[in-house]
Amino acid sequence: MTRSPASRPSARTFEQRLADGVMVGAEGYVFELERRGYVKAGPYVPEVILDAPDALRQLHREFLRAGADVMVALTYYAHREKLRDVGRGDDLEPMNRQAVRIANEIAAEGGALVAGNICNTWCYDPANPAESGAIVRDQYREQLGWAVEEGVDFVISETNDFLGEALVGLEVCQELGLSAMVTLASVRPDTTYDGYDYVEACRRLADAGAAVVGLNCSRGPATMLPLLERIRDSVDVPVAAQPVPYRTDDATPAFESLTGADGGRLFPVRLESAGHTRFEMAEFAREAQAIGIDYVGICCGGSPHLVRAMAEAMGRETPASRYSPALDLHPVLGEGHNDVMGDWSATAS
Ligand SMILES: [Zn+2]
Repeated sequence: MTRSPASRPSARTFEQRLADGVMVGAEGYVFELERRGYVKAGPYVPEVILDAPDALRQLHREFLRAGADVMVALTYYAHREKLRDVGRGDDLEPMNRQAVRIANEIAAEGGALVAGNICNTWCYDPANPAESGAIVRDQYREQLGWAVEEGVDFVISETNDFLGEALVGLEVCQELGLSAMVTLASVRPDTTYDGYDYVEACRRLADAGAAVVGLNCSRGPATMLPLLERIRDSVDVPVAAQPVPYRTDDATPAFESLTGADGGRLFPVRLESAGHTRFEMAEFAREAQAIGIDYVGICCGGSPHLVRAMAEAMGRETPASRYSPALDLHPVLGEGHNDVMGDWSATAS
């Protein structure tokens, strides 16, 4: 079956949904599925789409129950060159199609929008933008062509290290008549890898027609918020923020460079000790909403309990809120507890 962009899966468009008020995003699929044993750290190719589709369905469902307004098709890194690198080049089309089908299937359980997904390809070379951009363009056309046929409401183009590559992705979305939310990674302190101040890069993306601009991945709340404020003040389009839930700071603005007590690198598979709690991510969501961010989500490291806390902080009651903490009912921590075990306040003395 072939669908045109006119047959988008949802009754409402992305723009209409944005106009209703702040949207809740949820990502970090690859990291979460790696932790669950379905994706290999290192290549980070989403082989789970074909190898264990029920594991992917379940994570989509958990994000949906946690309040996510969008099911993002797990086509991150499912582009031609990456799949060839891991010996799965023949699976390119089935993997992309199935990812979008699964996103649609679970979105329909809760009225979420469906986003196609493209990302940094590692093929773009700012020293040779025409030739490398053509290679990137072909990969995006291929992925998004299948996404359109399977049905998506809009596209999330994310983790863009280069403004040039982000603009290629935006052009391909426009060729296909798709709205695009385009977000930049921000590994470097001030500029994209092709030398544009992040604020300027967002302004150029907005001028080029992106429906939403902003930042995803790389930065935790503490180092993403100051940049978001500047972006918010500089563009007229909606702004997206999908940080990582890790404790980045001025000395280490991006989580890729975080180190542990032993001085060793924490990224990507020993980040737990730098993780934010659900309460801290809820505080981020409140602050992002307060400065006028329109799409508040989470990236690598995201998991359903963090998304639920963020959604609730922004005033939502989610399907999973039925099981949100009620510590007053805890046998020791609650009021009127049974005194047999004391109050757990004892410390070594
Ligand atoms: Zn990420």
